[in-house]
Amino acid sequence: MSPERRRPLVAANWKMNLLKGDAADFCRDLKRGLAAPPAVDARVVIFPSFPLIPVVARELVDSEVEVGGQDLSPADKGAFTGDVSASQLADSGCAWVLCGHSERRQYHGEEDELVARKVKAAARHHLTPMICLGETRDERRAGRTFEVLERQLRAATESQPELFALAYEPVWAIGTGDTASPEMAQEAHGFLRRTLRELLDAAAAESVAILYGGSATPDNVPGLIVQPDVDGFLVGGASLDPQKFLAIIRGSG
Ligand code: PEP
Repeated sequence: MSPERRRPLVAANWKMNLLKGDAADFCRDLKRGLAAPPAVDARVVIFPSFPLIPVVARELVDSEVEVGGQDLSPADKGAFTGDVSASQLADSGCAWVLCGHSERRQYHGEEDELVARKVKAAARHHLTPMICLGETRDERRAGRTFEVLERQLRAATESQPELFALAYEPVWAIGTGDTASPEMAQEAHGFLRRTLRELLDAAAAESVAILYGGSATPDNVPGLIVQPDVDGFLVGGASLDPQKFLAIIRGSG
């Protein structure tokens, strides 16, 4: 990390996993683990599925751990059966929301334009969007990684949200055990940082946290976090085990 390093940010994407009791147990274990010495200097966010948000928010109310939704509607309210609005997320205790996760892009046909409208809806309701970006294996093989990242980043930030974080998640690394090497991650994060400098003023571009996501584990985070533009992790599979998630937090702080 750079000498004036950004505070690490580590987030758990639980996807469609866990029930209320598991979520409450997880939060208690996490709080116990974070309270044990040595002190952890990382910001931590949990992204549970919608029905678990009130349980997680309640369990974490006396901690610094924040909560976010895994998705949101671009609309503020109305006849959108099955959707969840930004204000409903905020009202349930969320401060964050994921936008454009590759599983939403892949299984729900979310394209850049929709992701951009979701980022705008989040900002309208003072939720911080964590914008997920990343190339597929075919795009990487075709030498199109930077082109894809630039397109996704420019589209998602077109509305100039005041606050946001990025999660670089190469699609080929998600849930596969095939983590990007530290050099590959830095190459992509460095490119995103340079693009942010074109889009934002200098201080804002430096302050955006760029997380790495894709089979992050307690074993591979130490090599990744020392890269100058890797500011933390968005963790899927390994975030379901509180001890592994804690080890990732401790390995990042
Ligand atoms: C994710 O889906 O955001 C993710 C990073 O998953 P995993 O850690 O399981 O690759």
